[in-house]
Amino acid sequence: MKSGFVAIVGRPNVGKSTLLNALVGRKVSIVSDKPQTTRYRIRAIYNSDEGQIVFVDTPGFHKPVDSLGDYLNNEVLNLLDEVDLIVFMIDAAGGFGKGDEYLANILKSSKTPKILACNKVDLAETEKVESSACSAGLCCDFKRVIKTSAITGEGLEELINAIYEFLPEGPRYYPEDMITDLPFEYQVAEIIREKVLHHTYEEVPHAVAVEVDEITENPQKNLTSIYATVFVEKDSQKGIIIGKGGSMLKKIGTEARVELEALTGKKIFLGLNVKVKKDWRKKEQAVRMLY
Ligand code: GDP
Ligand code: MG
Repeated sequence: MKSGFVAIVGRPNVGKSTLLNALVGRKVSIVSDKPQTTRYRIRAIYNSDEGQIVFVDTPGFHKPVDSLGDYLNNEVLNLLDEVDLIVFMIDAAGGFGKGDEYLANILKSSKTPKILACNKVDLAETEKVESSACSAGLCCDFKRVIKTSAITGEGLEELINAIYEFLPEGPRYYPEDMITDLPFEYQVAEIIREKVLHHTYEEVPHAVAVEVDEITENPQKNLTSIYATVFVEKDSQKGIIIGKGGSMLKKIGTEARVELEALTGKKIFLGLNVKVKKDWRKKEQAVRMLY
């Protein structure tokens, strides 16, 4: 048996969350077409006869712009030396850019073995994939280079095999039927946040945070009641999320409830509240409190 911890590192939008979802076969980590939606470590667990891979989905890398940025980058850096293997993911279709280069240079300083995943090959010409891989290889030493598509599934088996190659012998750390060790509240908050992001634009994504206030079970009615608060930075954002006559909040709430019911197999009541917390991103204390 082989087992170990694997960090998936890459700048926002290269497909880290999509890859984890594809591998594990269930939604455990938020996927969005807007960058920087994964704000904290999310582990997904892959089981097979060969062993167990515990994936750590790192937040998309970006240069610090405020205290939330600093917090994320330190998380990423600390993580690199703790894991057995790093999968560095790039968007082969988009090409190897400045952001990738910056991150690859940081990876170089870690002794942890690294695999390069050139993702989105379904969108890219072979030449483009090759040149992206080549540029990455100039910055950092990779044990293997794997071409993947998290969407079509191409290369995923090859990636898994390559990962096992570099993991030590070891036991399963988690039960086989467990695919995430995130508390239920985190999953609930992520699902709500995902729905908010899907329905809002530019001004909202960076400003939104979700906190679960209360979860109560009523076994007689087979009903789970969840109360949660969506935090934004400005009154204008609050207005956008609530929408005309509450229509937007209703839409967000309904979509989140349907997904939560599918996830739990239970009937859910979801009560959503929207609150303004001015400039919460700039206040590190607030960041730690919310996550
Ligand atoms: P993350 O920020 O690295 O976690 O990126 P996400 O997993 O959220 O993916 C960002 C966007 O890229 C989403 O719209 C995905 O559907 C899309 N995406 C991810 N992987 C692939 C892929 O292999 N092929 C294509 N065509 N799209 C992908
Ligand atoms: Mg992500």
